[in-house]
Amino acid sequence: MDDQELLRYSRHILLPELGIEGQERLRAAHALLIGAGGLGSPIALYLASAGVGIITLCDHDNVDLTNLQRQIVHRTAAVGRAKVESARDTLAAINPEVRVVALNERVAGERLDALVAQADVVLDGSDNFATRHAVNRACVAHRKPLVSGAGVRFDGQISVFDMRKPDAPCYACLFPEDAESEEVRCAVMGVFAPLTGIVGTIQAAEALKILTGVGTTLAGRLMLIDALTMDVRTIALKKDARCAVCGS
Ligand SMILES: [Zn+2]
Repeated sequence: MDDQELLRYSRHILLPELGIEGQERLRAAHALLIGAGGLGSPIALYLASAGVGIITLCDHDNVDLTNLQRQIVHRTAAVGRAKVESARDTLAAINPEVRVVALNERVAGERLDALVAQADVVLDGSDNFATRHAVNRACVAHRKPLVSGAGVRFDGQISVFDMRKPDAPCYACLFPEDAESEEVRCAVMGVFAPLTGIVGTIQAAEALKILTGVGTTLAGRLMLIDALTMDVRTIALKKDARCAVCGS
């Protein structure tokens, strides 16, 4: 690290748990982030400011005026632009040291598989079950840690599915693919602006911990946040031996 980097990351380097070694791990790391919306905004901002070396960002949407209430990586001038390009510009202004790969596409199938295979950690900031399940399948197949988050209305949830460990539950152990799950979208239900910030920021923290090997992650636990009362609970998750995705 040169002098500028030592200064930029000095408040991380001061942490005994991280130090220069931890910061260098972040610089050598590759994070895959699905979604540049409400969750993806704080995730991308913190991964970039914290110095994660390569951030691959996938989203097929353009910035809409209704996004700006919570999708804080985008500026008013970006309305109509591709979200990944808008996000890349914001991140470059915060930290030009990190490389942002902006993919303006809906990734699925083999493409998603190849992207997951290259990543050290995968963060799901998508807003629909089809994408969440596809990302989970790819993480199970390639044994990659998945940091999952969701937020609608005032309710948020976060978990880590650390597929590097054979006994770890996956997303489908919690939400089976064939279950009748009701899609609750922000566009219909509304969402409290800082909720996506709270959930996405916790996702970023978990990813940085995974990449540096610091602390204890939410692997095997689901964190539930009610932003109306600020009640936070974590419940234990178990691997489902009959899970269609990760079961034997
Ligand atoms: Zn499973």
